[in-house]
Amino acid sequence: MKKIVTTTLLLTFFFAFSQQKTIDQKVDALLKLMTLEEKIGQLNQYNDDLKATGPITVDNDKASQIRKGQVGSLLNCLGTERTRSWQNIAMESRLKIPLLFGQDVIHGFKTTFPIPLGEAASWDLAAIEQSARIAAIEASASGIHWTFAPMVDISRDPRWGRVMEGAGEDPYLGSKIAYARVKGFQGNKLGETDAVMACVKHFAAYGAAVGGRDYNSVDMSERMLWEVYLPPFKAALDAGAATFMNSFNDLNGIPATGNKYLQRDILKGKWGFKGFVVSDWGSIGEMQNHGYAKDGKEAAYLAITAGSDMDMESRCYKNNLEALLKEKRIDIKLVDDAVKRILRKKFELGLFDDPYRFCNPEREKAALNNPEHTKAAREIGAKSIVLLKNENNLLPLSKNIKRIAFIGPLVKEYKQNMGFWDVDLPGVDYDKLVVSQWDGLQNKIGKDTKLLYAKGCEIEGDNKEGFAEAIEMAKQADVVIMSIGEKRDMSGEAKSRSDIHIPGVQEELVKAIQATGKPVVVLINTGRPLIFNYTADNVPAILYTWWLGTEAGNSIADVLFGDVNPSAKLPMTFPREVGQIPIYYNHFNTGRPAKNDMDLNYTSSYIDLSNSPKFPFGYGLSYTSFNYSDLKLSKKKMKNNETMEVRVNITNTGKYSGDEVVQLYLRDKVGSVVRPIKELKGFEKIKLNVGETKTVKFVIDNQKLSFYNDKLEFISEPGDFDLMIGSSSEDIRLNDSFELVN
Ligand code: BGC
Repeated sequence: MKKIVTTTLLLTFFFAFSQQKTIDQKVDALLKLMTLEEKIGQLNQYNDDLKATGPITVDNDKASQIRKGQVGSLLNCLGTERTRSWQNIAMESRLKIPLLFGQDVIHGFKTTFPIPLGEAASWDLAAIEQSARIAAIEASASGIHWTFAPMVDISRDPRWGRVMEGAGEDPYLGSKIAYARVKGFQGNKLGETDAVMACVKHFAAYGAAVGGRDYNSVDMSERMLWEVYLPPFKAALDAGAATFMNSFNDLNGIPATGNKYLQRDILKGKWGFKGFVVSDWGSIGEMQNHGYAKDGKEAAYLAITAGSDMDMESRCYKNNLEALLKEKRIDIKLVDDAVKRILRKKFELGLFDDPYRFCNPEREKAALNNPEHTKAAREIGAKSIVLLKNENNLLPLSKNIKRIAFIGPLVKEYKQNMGFWDVDLPGVDYDKLVVSQWDGLQNKIGKDTKLLYAKGCEIEGDNKEGFAEAIEMAKQADVVIMSIGEKRDMSGEAKSRSDIHIPGVQEELVKAIQATGKPVVVLINTGRPLIFNYTADNVPAILYTWWLGTEAGNSIADVLFGDVNPSAKLPMTFPREVGQIPIYYNHFNTGRPAKNDMDLNYTSSYIDLSNSPKFPFGYGLSYTSFNYSDLKLSKKKMKNNETMEVRVNITNTGKYSGDEVVQLYLRDKVGSVVRPIKELKGFEKIKLNVGETKTVKFVIDNQKLSFYNDKLEFISEPGDFDLMIGSSSEDIRLNDSFELVN
C-alpha cells in the first residue's frame, strides 16, 4: 500500500513539473523513478504477429511483460486498433512509459512505391522524398512511430538480394538519396503526427558481404569503408535521422553489433549521434554463432559496451544485463545512457503527452485511401523505369495499333509487382489494389486495339509447353510486349543468387517470339541487375521496370505509349556475366590497364570476357535526344579555399519533351593513394521542352576534391583533375581539366 502511494505521489510530482522542463530534464527526472527492471525493459524490443489484426485478445506473456514495464518497443503490429490495444497495456504499467511501434516501411505502406533500387534509378530527389513522405503519412496514421528505413548500404554485388533495398553502388548518389529519404520519413519535425522516425541501416558495410551471400563476413580496408560505405550513413545523420540499426555482418572480424569502433567511436563519438541504435533482428544473440561471444551474457556485454542500445528480439539484454551489473562487469551509466536515448525519442514524438496520438482511426482511413498517394505512386513508378534499348524508335508505341500481344509470366500478376519488403496489410485485397500490367495496358489502349495474351512459360522451370500458343499470339499481333523477370521474392533479404541470369526458359521464350519477326518490346521485372544477354543483343526495345508497386501497370503503360518519356538512369553497373562481379564504374586503374577488349597481352583483363559492363552506371535512354555544349569552368586553377563554377548547356534536340540527368564526374589524376578512374560529384535532373536549351550549373568545392589519405585524413592534394560531363558514366560528352593549387 505504502509503495503504491509513494509511486503515485512521485508520478504526480513528475508530470506536474514536466510541463516546464526541457526534454533532457524530463528524461532525467523519469530515469530517477525507474527500477533497474524498468530500465532494462526500455532496451527490449519484441515482435508482434504481423498477420494479426484488431485488438489483442489473449492476455499473453508479452502482455504481462509489458504490464511490468519489461518491454520498450514492439515491431510488426499493424493498424490503430492493434497498436492502441498494446498501448493500453503499457498504460497499465507502473510508470506508464509508452511503447514505440516500429515497422519495415521500406517502399510505401499501403500505397506501394517502386522498390528503393528502382526508385533510385529516377535520380529524382524530390520524388524520392515525396514517396517516403507519403509512406510516413500512411504508416503514422496506422499507429506506427518508427520505420526501419532507409537502407543506405552501398553494394557493388548484384548477387546480394538486398541490393533491391538500397540506392545502388555510388556513395555520392547514395548519400543524396539517403538524405532525401530521411527528410521524407521524418517530415517537418519529429513530434508532428505525420512524421515517423527513420532508422538508417545497416551500420555498417553490410552490402559488401563476401560473395554477395547475405549475412556473410565483410573484410575491407579502412579507406574503402570511409570513402564508399560510410558517406550515405553520414548524409542520413545530417538529415536528422533519429535512429540507426546495426548489421548482421562482421567487419574485419568484429560483428557490427559488438563493434565499438563503429557505434561508439564513429557514430556516437566522431559524428555526435544523439539518437539510439537498435540491433538487427536477433543480432546480439547471433554473436555466439559468429564465435565472438561464448554465451548470451557475453553477447549482451559486448553489445551494450559497443553501443547497441535496443535489443531486437534476442532477449540477451533482458536475460543478462542485471547479472552483468551485479558482477560489476558493466556500469549502470551504460544502461542509463541507452535508456535515456530511447526515452528522449519517446518524448520527442510526444508520446508522453498522448500515447495514442498516432492511433486515430479516422485519420487512418483517410490516409490509406488518398487518391493523391495513388497518383504519386504512378508518377514515381514511371520515373523509375529505365529505357535500356530502343532501336528504330520502336517506342513509344502508337495508341492506334490494331493488335498487341502481351506475353509472359508476369503480365497478369498483381502482388508480384510489389516486390520484396511490401508491408502486406492484413485485410487488404492486393489483387484489387495493385494495377497489373495487363490492366494498365487495358486502361491505356483505345477500343479499337485488341490485346492478346499468352503466358508462354513460368518464371522458373524448364517447361516450354506454352511456347506454341505464345508464338501463335505473336504472329497475330502487330507488336509484341513481353513481361519477364524474377519472382518478387527472388531478390530481398536472404535472397542472394549465385546465378543472376533471367531464370527458367524465359529468354528462350524471348528468342522464340523474336524469331516470328514481329517487333518486340521486353519489360524486365526484378529487384537487382540481371543478366539477359540474348535479349539485350537481339530485341529492339527493352524497359527495365524493377518492381514498381501498386500502380505498376499504369506506370508501365504511361511509358510504353509515351505519356511519360523515360528518364531513369541505372544506379548500378550491369555485368555481362557473373564472373565480372564485383563490377563498378568508380574502380581504380591498374598498372596494366587494357586499352580495349582485344588488348590481352599481360593486361588486367579476362581472356574470355570483356572488362566492360553490359550497361554502365548512370545509363538510360530517352525518347528524345540531348545535346551537350559550351562547357565552361570559371577558372583553370583553383585554390583549396575557393570554389569553382562549372556551366554546361543542354538542348533537347529530339521530338519529345523530356528529362535529362546531367552527370558530372571528376578524376584526381595523381594521388598519394590511388584514386578511382572517375567519381560522380554532381548531377542535375532537368526538364526540357522540344528545342529548349538550359544551362546547368555545378559548384566544385574542396570537399569534392578531397579523399582519405594513407593516414585516413580527409584532404585534397594539389594537382590536375579531369572533369567529365555526360549522360552516363561512359557516355561522356564534354571534358575539361583544371589544377588545384596551394
Ligand atoms: C532485417 C532488418 C529489418 C528487421 C526487422 C531483419 O531481418 O535485416 O533490415 O529491419 O529484420 O524486420
